[in-house]
This record gives sequence, C-alpha cells and structure tokens, in this order.
Amino acid sequence: MSDKTQPVQTPQAIRGTQDIFGADAEAFGFVVETFERVRKLYRFRRVEMPVFEKTTVFSRSLGETTDVVSKEMYSFEDRGGESLTLRPEFTAGLARAYLTDGWQQHAPLKIATHGPLFRYERPQKGRYRQFHQIDAEIIGAGEPQADVELLVMADQLLKELGIADGVILQLNTLGDAPSREAWRLGLIDYFRAHKGSLSEDSQDRLERNPLRILDSKDPRDKPFTADAPMIDEFLSAEAQDFFGKVTAGLDAAGVAWNRAPALVRGLDYYRHTAFEFVTDRLGAQGTVLGGGRYDGLIETLGGPHTPAVGWAAGIERLAMLVGARDEVTPDVAIVPMGGAAETACMGLAATLRRSGIAVEMAFRGNMKKRMSRANDSGAKFALIVGDEELAAGEATVKILATGEQQRMALHAIPAYIGA
Ligand code: ATP
Ligand code: MG
Repeated sequence: MSDKTQPVQTPQAIRGTQDIFGADAEAFGFVVETFERVRKLYRFRRVEMPVFEKTTVFSRSLGETTDVVSKEMYSFEDRGGESLTLRPEFTAGLARAYLTDGWQQHAPLKIATHGPLFRYERPQKGRYRQFHQIDAEIIGAGEPQADVELLVMADQLLKELGIADGVILQLNTLGDAPSREAWRLGLIDYFRAHKGSLSEDSQDRLERNPLRILDSKDPRDKPFTADAPMIDEFLSAEAQDFFGKVTAGLDAAGVAWNRAPALVRGLDYYRHTAFEFVTDRLGAQGTVLGGGRYDGLIETLGGPHTPAVGWAAGIERLAMLVGARDEVTPDVAIVPMGGAAETACMGLAATLRRSGIAVEMAFRGNMKKRMSRANDSGAKFALIVGDEELAAGEATVKILATGEQQRMALHAIPAYIGA
C-alpha cells in the first residue's frame, strides 16, 4: 500500500458569521443603496470608519456595566500590547472621530455610514456575531428639529424599502437630566418595595440602573413594570416642551408614532427622545431601527458638552423584511459560434456594455447549450453570431420570449435594443 496523504480539511466559517449570496445579497445591496439615496436627500454626509478602535472608546462611552461591554465585545491585544476592540456599534467611534479629527467645526454635523459590527452573542436567526448596520447621526445639535429630521428620514427609508407596513414608531422621552434623575429615584423607591419578587437581574439593576428594569423581558418582572411610575410624572416644563416639539414635527411631516412610556435607553448619557421602529413580523427580533438623543456621550469621551442624536438599523433584519430580490437580468445574451465569432463577440460585448447595456456571454458548449444558457439568463434578446453573420458584419437578433428573429447590422444593434 502506498502512503495516503491526509486529505486537506476545509476550514469552516466562524459560527455566527454569514456568507451572503444570490437573492439575499441583492436584498442586502438594495437596503444599502436605498439608504445611500435617502441620506443624500436629507444631506447626511458619508463617512467611513475604522473597524477597530482602542477598547476604551467603547468601554468609556458604553459603560462597563452594559451587556455589550461586559459580555459581547471582541477585544484583543495586538502585537504592540494595546487592547483593541472590533466595533460593536458605530456611535462611539463617530464621537471619538468628532473629537480627534476636529469635526466640531462642521457642527451641526450630519453623518451617515454603514458596515460590519461584531458582538459575541448566541447566534440564531436574525442574530449574528458579525452583522451589519446603517447608521445616521447629527452631532452638535440640541434642537428638536434634529430629532425630527432623523425620524422622518428613518420613516422615509422604511417606506422606500417597501417594508413600512406593520412597522410602527415607538416613541418616548427620557426627559432632561433633572427629570431623568427624579424618575430614576422614583423607580428605585417603587421597585424596592417589590425587590424580593423581581428577577435576579432586575434586583441587580435596582440601585445601579433601575430604568433598565422597565426593559426586562423576564415574566417575573412584568407585573411590576406595568405599574411602575412613568416619566410623565417627572418631566420638567422644559422637557415637556422639547418632546412637544418633536411630536409636532412628526405630525407636520405625517409620520405616525405611538407613545411608548416604558421604552428606555439604559445609559446615563441618553436624554429626551428615545425611539424604536418595531415590527411583529420578525419574531423575537422585532426592533428594526432604534436610536435616541445622547447629549452626554461626548463628555464621557473627554470632550466638551455636545448634544447629539442618532439611530442605527440592522441591515440583515431590514433585508429579511425586504425579502429575496431578483438578481440582475441582462438585456442581451450573446451567442457566438466559432472561433472568429467568439473573438469578435468579445468586442461586441464590450461595446454594448460601455453603452450601458447589460450583457451575458454564452461561451461554453455547443449551440444548444449556448442557446439554453441565453434563455436561462432572462435576457430579452439573444444576439447570435456565426461565421456567416460575422462575414456580413451582422448578428441574428432573436427575441427570446417569442422566438421572432431577424438579421441586423452590428452597428444598428445598440439603438435597436435601447428602443
Ligand atoms: P437587541 O435588543 O435585539 O439585542 P440591541 O439593543 O442590542 O438589540 P442595538 O445595539 O440598538 O441593538 O442595534 C440596533 C439594531 O442592530 C437592532 O435593532 C438590530 O436590527 C441590529 N442588531 C443588533 N445586534 C444584532 C446582531 N447580533 N445580529 C444582527 N443584527 C443585530
Ligand atoms: Mg443586543
């Protein structure tokens, strides 16, 4: 027996990552292209950001106690011994760049970006370890108009994606700093009285971050969260006025919204507007787009007080709602027969493509195989070029749906197809 070498093992993809292909990739691309179009209508400037940052960019701005920082970050030491983290979200890096790149001079700065994010989560449908978001932020604007502009843009995006049906905007205010603090104390008082009946997680949250108890999905917490004091009891006149301007702006723009008094953002730097666009069509993963005002964030990164507001949406979840999309079909399929025709058709294909006509070339197998490839491509026309056509400077143009065909001069083809 001769020595059998071990077969090479194909390395597997990392759990929770995705290879997106075909109709799903088209849906993904459609989401990004639509976002790009809409953000230009609202004059958000495009930015491209690094995929990794120093770990402190996230630990400081997100807070050590959040799920993302405590459990979900991909952090590692690089060869220089520095702790780096694959970005789990966009906002912190954008806030860092605002400070380190002198973007303050552009305030109020409207920016948009998209790309991959990384979180060590339990992989499941709609939840991945590398996923993608689109993101829009207005940094350096404390006016309610900024909140309205972002929300109206989100609403238009969902409509242009064709997925607005069954998606509702859940809107809340967390008030200004004094309102929020009064609410926090009110919640602590209330939940303390029921401490023994709360879930362990919520008992833990009680002193540190009682707002997050309202967010709990644990059935043991539900009866108490329903009766908890709401922010409205604590809102200052100023905070009420701000929220009133946001809702009036949405009404003026014809954007439907629902008041969701228990919708919170746990982190201390969130103020005023908090929102989620929610659907019941994605099971447990129902939030398709979420955001809010984060007036205190830039200060946690050592910058001056800088009000800001923004949102992010998971591209995969949007793409799931969009559904599989057809891949592009060519306008024409070229079917060359014979060596000379094959060479000439490479020229013909280039000419047509340069004039904006999508071309598929059927270059494999016999005539029958080539014609069936042309049919399968979904093209409207087949251009058949054999020796005879070539000598005459012509092609046989066949309308694939009807089988109708005619000979035509090559130079006349672009105009004929365009017509
Ligand atoms: P969830 O409650 O679903 O964990 P989150 O509060 O962690 O969401 P955000 O950080 O607000 O989510 O991110 C905004 C959006 O990004 C989500 O609504 C979702 O569409 C998407 N998203 C978040 N985490 C993932 C993930 N692991 N895989 C796919 N999409 C995700
Ligand atoms: Mg999460």
